[in-house]
This record gives sequence, C-alpha cells and structure tokens, in this order.
Amino acid sequence: MNSYTAEWVLPITGEPIYRGSISTENGRIVDVDDRAGSEAIDLGGGVAVMPALVNAHTHLELSYLRKTMPPTEKFLDWIRTIMATRRQYADAGDPRILDAARAAIAEARASGTGLVGDISNTLVTAPLLREASMPAHVFYELLRFNAVDPESLVREARSRADAAADNDGNLRVSLAPHAPYSVSPGLFAAIRADLDAHPGQVTSVHLGESPEEIEFIRRGTGPWRVLLEELGVWNDQWQAPGTSPVGYLDQLGFLDRRVLAVHGVQFDGDDLDRLRSRDMTVVSCPRSNQHVGVGAPPLEAFYAMNVGVAFGTDSLASAPDLNLFSELAEARRLAPRVSARALLASATRQGAVALGYESDYGTIEAGKSAQLIAVRVPDAVDDVEEYLVGGIEPSAISWLDPS
Ligand SMILES: [Zn+2]
Repeated sequence: MNSYTAEWVLPITGEPIYRGSISTENGRIVDVDDRAGSEAIDLGGGVAVMPALVNAHTHLELSYLRKTMPPTEKFLDWIRTIMATRRQYADAGDPRILDAARAAIAEARASGTGLVGDISNTLVTAPLLREASMPAHVFYELLRFNAVDPESLVREARSRADAAADNDGNLRVSLAPHAPYSVSPGLFAAIRADLDAHPGQVTSVHLGESPEEIEFIRRGTGPWRVLLEELGVWNDQWQAPGTSPVGYLDQLGFLDRRVLAVHGVQFDGDDLDRLRSRDMTVVSCPRSNQHVGVGAPPLEAFYAMNVGVAFGTDSLASAPDLNLFSELAEARRLAPRVSARALLASATRQGAVALGYESDYGTIEAGKSAQLIAVRVPDAVDDVEEYLVGGIEPSAISWLDPS
C-alpha cells in the first residue's frame, strides 16, 4: 500500500482538495482524504495530483507522418496529400510505421495520458498498445462509399477486431465508420447492427469537420464529390440527404450515446440539440482543426448546450505532439468563458465515459484504477485548475506508483 499527501488533489468529481491525501493498493485507489495522511509520502509543496488524462481521439498508426504534412487552408488539399503519402507506405507493418507509433505511445504516456481512443485502419497499433500497457479503445475504422456487400465486410472486420482485443478488458476493439462522405448508408447500417450486437462497446465517427462535408451532405456537390468520382468510388444510388451530417446520421438511426462524434467544427444549434438529446459526446481536437484548415470548433457552444465534451490530439499528421495538456491550452484560448474545471473534466472523466472506461478511469475515487499523475505547480499559483489548463510540459509530470 502507498499513501501520498499533495498540496493539491484534483478528484475531478468536485473542487480541488488542498493538502489532500490518496492511498493506493494493488493498482487501485483505496482512499481519498481531505487531510494529510500521517504516514503518507509527502509529495511536497507545489504538486497537484490528478487522474491520468484521456486522449479520446488519435491515429497512432499515422505517427510516422509527423512534421511531413504542412498546415493547409483547404481540407481537401490535406486529404489528398495524406492519401498520396500513405500510398508510399503500403505495408502496414513497415518498421517505420511501427517504430513511430511505439514512440508516440511513450510520448503520450510521458505527457500524462493513461487511456486512449485510437483510430486504426490496419489494427497494427493494438499489439503496440498492449506491449506498452496503455489502456485503449481501438476503433477499427472502415471506409467504403460504394460498399456492395457491407454485411460481409463488417463480419470479416469483426473477426479481425475480436482477434486483436485483449481478454483483460484494457484493450478493446470495435468497428467504426470513417465519416458520412466516405461510408455508404448500408455500411453505416451494418456497423450499427454490429454495435447493437455488442452491448457495452462504443464507436466513433468523424462528423461535421469541414465545410466541404456540409456541402456534400446537403447538396451532393463540391470537392468531396469530385474526389469520390476521381477515386472511382462514386455511388450512383446515393442521394444527397439535404440535411446536416448530424441530421443525416440520425436519420440512418446511427446516433446514440455510444457514438463519439469527433470534431464538430461545423455543428450548429440544431446539431448540438440533437447530440444532447442523444446523450452523446463530442471529441474536440482544436489544434488539428486549425492545421487542416477547417476552422475553430464552437467550444463555448458545446458547453453552453450541455453536450458532453472530450478532447483528443488527433494524429501526429495534424498535431505537433500528443500532449493533451497542450490541447487543453488551445481549448482554453478558444473558450475563455468555460471554467478550467469543466475543461479538466473533459480531458479526464468525459473521455473515460465516452470510451466506456468510466468505472476505472477519469476521476480519483476509491475503487478506481490508480493511474495518477503528479504535476509540478509553481509556488505563486493560487488557481491550480487554471494553471493546469495553461499548458504543461512532460518535464513537470510524473506518475505515482500504483502499487
Ligand atoms: Zn481523426
């Protein structure tokens, strides 16, 4: 058993505890107290203990693209560049891909992340996450705008997903559609049926990211239409739904609380109303949004409309690092009226809820997994929550021994 006393303990369930203590045993939190424990290890002044962060959206298999994809003003330019680059690395098991993903997982851990939602088209990241003991939900992402037999596509994908998952429950794998412009209605339906057959699992979809997506779903026109035709995957049966992407997926019966809506940069009030009524979580990746030229997410509206908000870094192809504290700092800049406490809850508890890991992660409560980080805080700081959303470097972060 280990017992720690810190200047600040942030349970996330309420306000920070000044001079609180935490006891852990066999990897679990056994007690949280608002007094310093007499036999506790004193972490000293200027330390805040909080739950490990949850990075709810990344693509670890794209880590080898770090610093190769310059920022763009047009989303489709970015898409075209990444497609061309990925074609040069045709073998998913290329050591350059695996080594970069391994390093990225280590980097995420060093910057305080203890649970990830990872999108993968190849499942190569599953064994790497297991090897690094990084708890994760891997979304095995499917794209096919002209899927002829979506049911068999999903059946095959499901057996690969099951083979990649871990039996101890810390590496879960489900199927996920990429986006409304790259997945046929039939494939959405087949993935939804698979989700319904697996209670307790979650899925994820890129939704409302670019203005080009809005145009395509509303009118069937624009750069997405051009690209789909160019790739030879246009489907003549497909009719533009004439709604927003959120309205479209809702019509397809796809949306509920088990679906993570990633990005939401283009969401309007009606979309947010719908998401709230479905008890859904938006996963926001503001640095990536800026990099790929789609604008800034309406973060204050997400919170004002009481939609669940989690954060992700997105991949190293569109973010400079996997430090979720840096993502929080960008969120703070974009949403000055949202409280630091709410932002911190998004980066911890709401991420865990969205990924289906809330019984183990996201808060400091007795019984939960003791994935706890200690962040060094300067003496002069009086608002510790505000300090923590201002950007924290890995050198200020250490992990508490959970034994
Ligand atoms: Zn993504």
